[in-house]
Amino acid sequence: VKSSNPVLVLGSIAIDTIYTPTEEHAGILGGSASHAAVAASIFAPVRLTGIIGSDFPEKEVEWFRQCGMDLAGLEKAEGRTFSWTGKYQANMNLRETLAVDLGVFGDYRPTLPAAYRSTPIVLLGNIAPALQHHLLDQMERPHFVIADTMDLWIETAREELERLLTRVDMLILNDSEACLLTGESNLVRAGQALRKQGLRYVAVKKGEHGCLLFGQEGLFAAPAFPLETVRDPTGAGDCFAGGLAGSLAARGGPVDFEALRAGVVNGSVVASFNVEEFNLGRLRTLRREEVDSRVAALREIARFAI
Ligand code: AMP
Repeated sequence: VKSSNPVLVLGSIAIDTIYTPTEEHAGILGGSASHAAVAASIFAPVRLTGIIGSDFPEKEVEWFRQCGMDLAGLEKAEGRTFSWTGKYQANMNLRETLAVDLGVFGDYRPTLPAAYRSTPIVLLGNIAPALQHHLLDQMERPHFVIADTMDLWIETAREELERLLTRVDMLILNDSEACLLTGESNLVRAGQALRKQGLRYVAVKKGEHGCLLFGQEGLFAAPAFPLETVRDPTGAGDCFAGGLAGSLAARGGPVDFEALRAGVVNGSVVASFNVEEFNLGRLRTLRREEVDSRVAALREIARFAI
């Protein structure tokens, strides 16, 4: 794997409506792939795979292009773009899905352009495990595959999700999902249990409290950047995954524990920017230098010597 490798991103491209305790924004760009692909593009060239409907704003496709993305895998179909409506509770940690409209996602089966099939780093963003499998079936021995998921798939597609765990190198999920998937109530045991299912690496996200990275080499407790204001948590997990995948692609070389340590820090710093604005707002101007200086600030905040 050479430096500046591309990263392939699969996931949802959505029109979101979001309610926080103080604000409401309707009809804005969202989706796991949108967040993850833009986050990854801060570090490396991105090959996007997903589907949009005939109502999807052309200016957002243009923005993806301006982010340097290869859009050969972006399908456009007659019908409505996938849409999602979510509402946050007072502390912004709990969220309820109010509505989902699958639209063109209903019969979506991604067909990978030939040029995508040998992409070394693959991010299977949060989407139905059947689609994640379907994309993986078309890949030619990728170097490193990361899968993201959510509670919905643990509850409705557990068997397919568990089978996916035997096909990927790394799984990303949040603390409550790790407990739900393993039946453990302790995160260290949950991470170890997932590794025993055949995963080389597991990242358990703990929201504002950082992330635990499990691997054969050991454990890394990554801190989160402490924020004064969280305006909209939507897409934080996708930005984490995209920033991580992009960071691995940009670094090149083998994906070892050192690369993953750097990757999860880059991912969580991109996520920290994302939650400061509504949905993808902050990512529209975020530059690599800003990410790097917040990483440096986090290193100082987390430094200790005895
Ligand atoms: P996150 O906050 O990281 O969970 O990601 C939120 C994004 O995921 C929103 O922009 C939604 O459009 C998208 N999303 C919500 N539910 C689903 C689903 N079932 N499948 C794919 N994407 C979804």
